[in-house]
Amino acid sequence: MNYYEILGVTPDSEPAEIKSAYRRLARKFHPDVNPDGAKRFKEISKAYDTLSDEKKRKQYDTLNGFFKTEKTKTSSRQAESEYKQKTQQKSEKAQETRKKTDAKHADNKFGDIFGTIFEASQKSKKTKTPEPVNGKDINTDVTITLSEALKGTTRTVNVVHTELCPRCHGRKFINGSKCPVCSGSGEYSIHKRISVKIPANIKNGAKLRLKGEGAEGQFGGKNGDLYLYIQIKGNSNMSYDGADILYNVPITPYEAVLGGEIIIPTLDGSVKLKLPERTPSGQKFRLAGQGLKRNGKTGDMIITVSIEIPKRLSDDEVKLYEKLKKLSADNIRENIL
Ligand SMILES: [Zn+2]
Repeated sequence: MNYYEILGVTPDSEPAEIKSAYRRLARKFHPDVNPDGAKRFKEISKAYDTLSDEKKRKQYDTLNGFFKTEKTKTSSRQAESEYKQKTQQKSEKAQETRKKTDAKHADNKFGDIFGTIFEASQKSKKTKTPEPVNGKDINTDVTITLSEALKGTTRTVNVVHTELCPRCHGRKFINGSKCPVCSGSGEYSIHKRISVKIPANIKNGAKLRLKGEGAEGQFGGKNGDLYLYIQIKGNSNMSYDGADILYNVPITPYEAVLGGEIIIPTLDGSVKLKLPERTPSGQKFRLAGQGLKRNGKTGDMIITVSIEIPKRLSDDEVKLYEKLKKLSADNIRENIL
């Protein structure tokens, strides 16, 4: 936002108008009365520092292309005189336009009156302080792993939002030519990098609100908010059901037959699980208190084992399986029909 927008005034605004706008905003955002106002207060003060100083304001206007309309010169002639010289060309053009307008009314004996009314209405339109416009909210998805969801993490979020062009204020043209800042689109994109702390034990689909990090308000309006929608990336072995973590764990054929203690790697280190003898594939085990912490309660970890064949089997192992095959008398498919 440019300094005029920060104070909710226009490049045509009189010093008194700027002063009262500053006072109003300063009262609203002073850190003593508004703990969240520090940033705004600083911006407001900086803008006022420049715009309240005739010399600094002129410099700022020249650098940023804010040319006061010719009409204001009648009310602040002195301050404008030097400035007017610089913009002589433009003024002449404006006068020409007015002459044409006057010419139109030349054969109307009330021409002068019309001219005056026309001018007055134009002036009131131009010097009117724009209504505050609140900034839009921005919504964005953030994908995190289950491990990050459990432990908490930080993410840098790139936010892109469009605002009215600060130079032409969305009018697209300045003095009849395309605005050089927005190339005539009337808006421009703002890229912002925001570091966000994602708390531990966040749910899938949770919504995080970052107050005031949305699109900036215009003319003293409030900033929008930034909403982050948390998406927890699926892990092929892990998923979750409410506060419970569902964990698929492979076991070897001999572990299934003989049972024993198996070590299960988890997000918080390792957990021992006592596997009974002859554990079938698909058997579920519940590890109480190893789930997510939600609403003061802690979920469980539910383990589902599946028998898998080790990728590397030695010749000796295969020979033993052959021996098992000969020894095996039970037909496990006997009763499947
Ligand atoms: Zn523009």
